[in-house]
Amino acid sequence: MRTGGDAGGPEFFRKGKTHMAQALVGIVGWRGMVGSVLMERMAAEDDFAHIEPLFFSTSNAGGALPASIAGFAKNETKLLDAHDVGALARCDIVLTAQGGDYTQEVFPKLRAAGWKGHWIDAASALRMRDDAVIILDPVNLPVIQNALAKGWRNWIGGNCTVSCMLMGVGALFKAGLVEWMSTQTYQAASGGGAQHMRELLRQYGTLNAEVRALLDDPKSAILEIDREVIKRQRAMSAEETANFGVPLGGSLIPWIDKDLGAGKGRDEPGWGVSREEWKGMAETNKILGQGEGFGTPAVPVDGFCVRIGAMRCHSQALTFKLKQDVPVADIEAMIAADNDWVQVVPNNREATMRDLTPVAVTGTMNIPVGRIRKLAMGPEYLGAFTVGDQLLWGAAEPLRRMLRILLQA
Ligand code: NAP
Repeated sequence: MRTGGDAGGPEFFRKGKTHMAQALVGIVGWRGMVGSVLMERMAAEDDFAHIEPLFFSTSNAGGALPASIAGFAKNETKLLDAHDVGALARCDIVLTAQGGDYTQEVFPKLRAAGWKGHWIDAASALRMRDDAVIILDPVNLPVIQNALAKGWRNWIGGNCTVSCMLMGVGALFKAGLVEWMSTQTYQAASGGGAQHMRELLRQYGTLNAEVRALLDDPKSAILEIDREVIKRQRAMSAEETANFGVPLGGSLIPWIDKDLGAGKGRDEPGWGVSREEWKGMAETNKILGQGEGFGTPAVPVDGFCVRIGAMRCHSQALTFKLKQDVPVADIEAMIAADNDWVQVVPNNREATMRDLTPVAVTGTMNIPVGRIRKLAMGPEYLGAFTVGDQLLWGAAEPLRRMLRILLQA
């Protein structure tokens, strides 16, 4: 087994890569919702051929590598302790999808120990640091390359809704056409993680079981079914709603992430926005390399973030105030040409119902953008609707692509 780098600087990057050298990559959070999708994508793109992975765990250190990942390992057979700074410091790159609490606990200790490796992270904890780049290379490769040239080492995946939105309509921002944007989101249960998805499905099952006999009887009264469902939803226990806090099955929750507090001035973060809503403007501008810290004005982005009972994929209705009146056909052409994954969906009922839903998009890399039309407010007001698998472009994909960028740097 390779002994790897010391806390002073990872071997792979210090000595320069050779044909023989493989970067030692510590992988944390591989079992979670994002991590599982990340493992699938890394396998599909043959990423493991270019690295030596070390798998870490917060809950089963010392345990045997499970079958799902054992085939990717080259020398290791056991899970390492994700809190062992010494073991992490051997890695040239740490790739984590474990979560913000883990990052906040371990990252400062690792850097304090003198570790100079690259940290790639799905969690939001480090996103707004001055020395961190929010990575979404089809949109901001120049920002990433600029930071690489300056020797930066913290690469953080963006908020899932923001990343999926920019993969879809980034062209309008890049062209400098956007005066402001408002977004109303419809975010899937999986945005909260594996446990949230299970809770949603259990709730659906509970509600179905509650009225199954009535459903099976075609003569039963629909209002009785309705009454039984709402009674059961309102009676759900703390255990049945442990993850979302309230029932999500058959309902929605118009608040995602922390409450930043109310009653402050409109210009300050915390004037009644949720943290998820706050991320919309902060991260969109940081990804694009504009606004605070870049010496250029930020584009205002605001709206409401809503959790719905979809399993996977975040959808969003977008309203743009453009700086000028641009014909819809030109806008569609700009969006379609922006990257290999965006797809313009014709603004008609049939195409929308076929191609612009979470069911159509889940598990694919496609970012469809549809419902593109001018709004009644005036020719500079544009509407659009987009759907993206937030576990792919909103989480796993930018991380694995950053890994490949580092390996090639
Ligand atoms: P998650 O599914 O809750 O997984 C996080 C960790 O929870 C796992 O690595 C695992 O750690 C532990 N865990 C406990 N019980 C589990 C179970 N039954 N199944 C699987 N794992 C379990 O969280 P996530 O959604 O992947 O999110 C990870 C990070 O990515 C968060 O910071 C999140 O904000 C961010 N993110 C998420 C999304 C999304 O759409 N979900 C999108 C973008 C960013 P051990 O194996 O060490 O026990």
